[in-house]
Amino acid sequence: MRILSSAEQKIRVLPENLINKIAAGEVIDRPASVVKELVENSIDAGADRITVIIKGGGKSLIQVIDNGAGMDEENAIMSFQRHATSKITSYQDMERITTLGFRGEALASIASISRVEMKTVATGEIAGTSLLIEGGVIQKIDKTGGNPGTSIAVKNIFYNTPARRKFLRADSTEYRYILNVLNRFTLAYPEIGFTLINEGNQVYDLKPTFSEERVVDVLGSRVQGNLIAVQDDTALAKITGFVGGFDIMRKSRNDQYLFLNRRYIVDRTINYAISAAFGDTIPKGLYPLYVIFLEIDPERVDVNVHPTKTEVKFADQQSLFSVVRGAVKRALTRDEVIPEMSSQRPSFEDMRARFRSSLPDELHHFSPDQMQMNFDKSTSHPVQPSAPMPSQPGQELPPDESQYQAAAPQRSQPQTSAVVWQLHNKYILSQIKSGLVVIDQHVAHERILYEKAKKSIEQNAAPSQQLLFPQTIELTPEDFEYLVEILPFLQKIGFVIKSFGGRTVVMEGVPAGLKIGSENKILLDIIDEYKTKQSSEIDVRERVAKSFACRSAIMAGEKLTTEAMNSLIDQLFATENPYFCPHGRPVMITISIDELDKRFDRK
Ligand code: ADP
Ligand code: MG
Repeated sequence: MRILSSAEQKIRVLPENLINKIAAGEVIDRPASVVKELVENSIDAGADRITVIIKGGGKSLIQVIDNGAGMDEENAIMSFQRHATSKITSYQDMERITTLGFRGEALASIASISRVEMKTVATGEIAGTSLLIEGGVIQKIDKTGGNPGTSIAVKNIFYNTPARRKFLRADSTEYRYILNVLNRFTLAYPEIGFTLINEGNQVYDLKPTFSEERVVDVLGSRVQGNLIAVQDDTALAKITGFVGGFDIMRKSRNDQYLFLNRRYIVDRTINYAISAAFGDTIPKGLYPLYVIFLEIDPERVDVNVHPTKTEVKFADQQSLFSVVRGAVKRALTRDEVIPEMSSQRPSFEDMRARFRSSLPDELHHFSPDQMQMNFDKSTSHPVQPSAPMPSQPGQELPPDESQYQAAAPQRSQPQTSAVVWQLHNKYILSQIKSGLVVIDQHVAHERILYEKAKKSIEQNAAPSQQLLFPQTIELTPEDFEYLVEILPFLQKIGFVIKSFGGRTVVMEGVPAGLKIGSENKILLDIIDEYKTKQSSEIDVRERVAKSFACRSAIMAGEKLTTEAMNSLIDQLFATENPYFCPHGRPVMITISIDELDKRFDRK
């Protein structure tokens, strides 16, 4: 660290503009936060029509146009000053805040790091004001005409803070963040019409409506008919909204929206309360959809604990937990989604029988018979029944693959005539020369599909099977963006997916061998898996191959025929690396005869 000379150490008050730039770092970290602040202001201004225009993932343009109250010239100029707000005048006001903004920081921060063009006409006026601000400095003030309302265009965000600009991600990623932010507003304010235009194309044009219809508009038609209304009014909180049934549960938490006094929040306690209402009926790895609104006296909540205000502190956390869980549970029981809790809690198996259509059976995409048919004999290695399994006696395969490289060319496979057993519909047991091998059926299949998918992506496209009934799938704008990103690779794997206009796609074909009947589910599963994959894995191809393999492999719990098991083993040993799944989990363990002998004191 450089030591400052005493002359340099002189304490100065920072220029206003620099203060704003520093503050901007806290409030505005990416284009999506600009969108959030501008839309909040439009809502606070009482608008019932809001249009958002995006270019270059928000890096080149973010424009928000509203038909709200507008501002006169004096207020328009004031609005860009730090701590200038029309929303509170005292500390007491802050305790009872009902608007989305109140700090008076957003516009000042945004203006300090971009070029802003504002046009605003106050209600009842026909003339208004236009302002041009660059790096926080007003360059031009003009008169303008137009309808009441405000338009704010933010261009070249972070142009004067290159370090921040460097932290921005690809346009498509920044655009997804923006979609996320907008989703929250569109769900929370169904009475407001929202239009989104990206790169000149209209992404959606949501008409003002009531809540349930808006949820369907935003989350897609697949949720229609699967929403269970939640409603309760207690002294502590008013609860309204919807939870989704089993049919629309997903493998990511993406479709979970919680609003406190119509402000989007993230809260683990409430989240847990909603899951808890389902009891133990939720299949592992699935998350229920919900759009829940809480109304609580603002004085009983501290919204100031988190700078971007998505986390809050409740005065009555515990009671709130019970209230929310109770309300959701009553809704589920009323709609017979879950049975009434008795002392004997229903097991997952009971639930499975009861809700057959919706539980993980649907997730089994491959029928074992098809696997047998799809086994390509030409790629299998010659049977070498005498070669021992490459493992140390009595130990699981250690996670060091390298030592097996030498053994790989002479890898053994259990003879196809060998006896195989399925244990708990999960593991395949087979005799090998040195003893016993235990194979995890899901992980084994995952390895097979992963290598196939990678080959198809890198070398030549895999064959697809045409669907007799093409499937139309309406995706959320966010999922649609992900799909666009991975589509070229999915096509190589064998999916035939075409655009149907907007964010609706038609699936006309799937990879040969995929079990028919769950195609749209697997597409959503792959998207979910893809987006939850660590972003550190930069190679898109790798991520797509892994997501596909993981989501289309046979599951634990699926009963396999002897032929299917043999086929699986054959295909496994034809892969490059049959010992580990693409995520690094072992595919098999071996137990040697020596080890068994030792355990039975047979010496
Ligand atoms: P805050 O929202 O915390 O008050 P902002 O910096 O976001 O602070 O906005 C400053 C002020 O500018 C607001 O209090 C409001 O009076 C005015 N303002 C901002 N955007 C709009 C808009 N779209 N329509 C009308 N007034 C607006
Ligand atoms: Mg604001």
